[in-house]
Amino acid sequence: QKLVERLKATSQFYKKKLGDKVGAADIKSLDDLKRLPFTEKGDLRDNYPFGMFTVPLEDVVRIHASSGTTGKPTVGGYTRADVELWTEVMARTVSSAGVTKKDVVHNAYGHGLFTGGMGFHVGADRVGATVIPISGGLTRRQVMLIEDFGATVITCTPSYALVIAEEAMEMGVDIKKRWKLRAGIFGAEPWTEKMRRELENKLNLEAFDIYGLTEVIGPGVAVECSEHNGMHINEDHFLAEIIDPDTGERLPYGSEGELVFTTITKEAMPVIRYRTRDRTILHNEPCKCGRTNVRMEKIMGRTDDMLIVRGVNVFPQLIEKTLLSIEDIEPHYQIVIDRPKDQLDTLEVWVEASPKLFQPIDTRRLDELQKRVAHELAQTLGVSAEVKLMGPKSIQRSEGKARRVVDKREL
Ligand code: AMP
Ligand code: ZN
Repeated sequence: QKLVERLKATSQFYKKKLGDKVGAADIKSLDDLKRLPFTEKGDLRDNYPFGMFTVPLEDVVRIHASSGTTGKPTVGGYTRADVELWTEVMARTVSSAGVTKKDVVHNAYGHGLFTGGMGFHVGADRVGATVIPISGGLTRRQVMLIEDFGATVITCTPSYALVIAEEAMEMGVDIKKRWKLRAGIFGAEPWTEKMRRELENKLNLEAFDIYGLTEVIGPGVAVECSEHNGMHINEDHFLAEIIDPDTGERLPYGSEGELVFTTITKEAMPVIRYRTRDRTILHNEPCKCGRTNVRMEKIMGRTDDMLIVRGVNVFPQLIEKTLLSIEDIEPHYQIVIDRPKDQLDTLEVWVEASPKLFQPIDTRRLDELQKRVAHELAQTLGVSAEVKLMGPKSIQRSEGKARRVVDKREL
């Protein structure tokens, strides 16, 4: 009720969206959430950069962002109170994995606009742990410092954790003997139970899944407890629903569908019924750990075509738009993603170049073009792609829906 009241008074966007149809008085129970309209990624895009904020910019003390559908990022804003809320839910998150002031937390999530680094930093700091804000990259150095600083907890994407493990093994480090890691808190991208076993084996730790998104707050939305039977959602701040992605109908606990969030306590950028496009199942049976909030299963996929490559959200449409803006590039392309064993995801873009560059073959111009395409893609996507320029008609033509994306990873 308070949220609806406040949004009607402070948000141009929600004033319009809610109109005269629903008011605070119509919300008499949680079930009445159903009366409220959805908020979509497109709404955030249309109100870029700060149109979704409900407070003046001077009250916003932090901005984070994630890649968007058009090359413009999806923005999240935080007031002082929002940063405090984030710290609280992240403190709960790391606590769920048993982190206390006795731990040394090797935080290899990216530090910067991405929410992962900062989110874990404030949460681990709040419980008094010794935080190592190492961020991602320079893997050999990470391997050295995990041992030298005696890290007991590691936080990063599951795919980067495998890369660290692989590097350590290549360097001949006896992980089981020399490392003290006891827990890993992994998320920001889909991963399987098989990958969990692999991570637990190789790094000799207990792996916890964590879920979050910039539009809601970043990490801190949900985390596994030691039962590992789904991720408990911080429902006192983020109300979760599952809907049928086609009809928008609310589905009962236990059914698979699209996850939707309403943030009831956030100040700068609250959202009502935000459609995450993530597919999962909610469970409300009591958990042995004693927590009473609902659990979400591992994310099972998306209801849109967004891909997550090396932790970065990649929208195929944006690749297409970028390719087609380049002269001498033909509208025939394929995106190939793979995850070679214990390595980071590879992203390849195969695209046909203009036939005139092949009659006769002009290797100098093809070279230049290849570099240009790779550069443009890296700039707009925020993740590098290997570009393969192809000759005329070498990409298979389709008779129906073109198969633009070939994802060979096992997620
Ligand atoms: P971002 O806002 O860039 O952090 O991206 C959020 C998106 O990352 C979510 O909507 C999910 O699609 C994905 N994501 C985050 N955490 C997980 C997780 N634990 N498992 C699967 N996907 C995840
Ligand atoms: Zn539990």
